[in-house]
Amino acid sequence: VSGSRSRDLLELKDIFIAVKTTRKYHKSRLELLIQTWVSQAKEQTYIFTDGEDKELRTRTGANIINTNCSAAHTRQALCCKMSVEYDKFIESQKKWFCHVDDDNYVILPSLLQLLSSYHHSQDVYLGRPSLDHPIEAAERVKSDGSVSVKFWFATGGAGFCISRGLALKMSPWASLGNFISTAEKIRLPDDCTIGYIIEALLEVMLTHTHLFHSHLENLQKLPTDTVLEQVTLSFGGFENRRNVVSVAGGFSLFEDPTRFKTVHCLLYPDTNWCPKLQHR
Ligand code: UDP
Ligand code: MN
Repeated sequence: VSGSRSRDLLELKDIFIAVKTTRKYHKSRLELLIQTWVSQAKEQTYIFTDGEDKELRTRTGANIINTNCSAAHTRQALCCKMSVEYDKFIESQKKWFCHVDDDNYVILPSLLQLLSSYHHSQDVYLGRPSLDHPIEAAERVKSDGSVSVKFWFATGGAGFCISRGLALKMSPWASLGNFISTAEKIRLPDDCTIGYIIEALLEVMLTHTHLFHSHLENLQKLPTDTVLEQVTLSFGGFENRRNVVSVAGGFSLFEDPTRFKTVHCLLYPDTNWCPKLQHR
């Protein structure tokens, strides 16, 4: 019976997932994502990069957006990408905006379940707080910088989500290049600027969730039996190659150093490249 309840159910197609990447990570990071979780959310995942790669686009059929932003790891370049992500989301008409980095695995069923407990027309900003205290910055948008504001922000490297209702309210400070000027005024990185617009300017609070993970935490400490319930995962950078979630499956640490393939095969065992189960 398709009553009003089933009509209201959130579906994967209602979520816009933005992946931030850069040309030099297309092979080393993006390919893995396209092979794993992105393959289950092809239509709604948009990859924001800074260099043309026709080969990747045609071979994988992924939605790849060349932002024409600089490929430098600077505040300006990263904010330029976030600004394009925001504009594309608004254009998309989808209900939720979620941002992740190219070293995140998105556990789509958990994401859907989490967002299902909120409504996209409400003001919702969900993510993992970067610090255990709010950051303080001079208020240079609404006033002259002589007063400071305290606000929480979700760490971009763990991913975060914003409801459409809230995203629309961010427009004066986020749309059509305004995001870049807002970030320049407060001189903070892209994820802090998002927090600043939402908490300090719009007075909407970050909903703190520990289901999002970046490689800033010790990922090995995540209990194995809870890994598939998380919303995002990550893996250690070059400085800490062993900072990965502990899951066992058909792939060794050598074959699957990030553990993303192993996680993917636990979630989608019928995938053609997953090791066949012994007993069914
Ligand atoms: N990144 C980028 N431009 C760069 C370097 C990195 O857009 O010049 C992106 C990268 O693809 C990733 C995010 O920024 O999505 C964070 O980069 P990384 O994981 O290398 O650094 P960290 O997490 O340590 O900040
Ligand atoms: Mn990272």
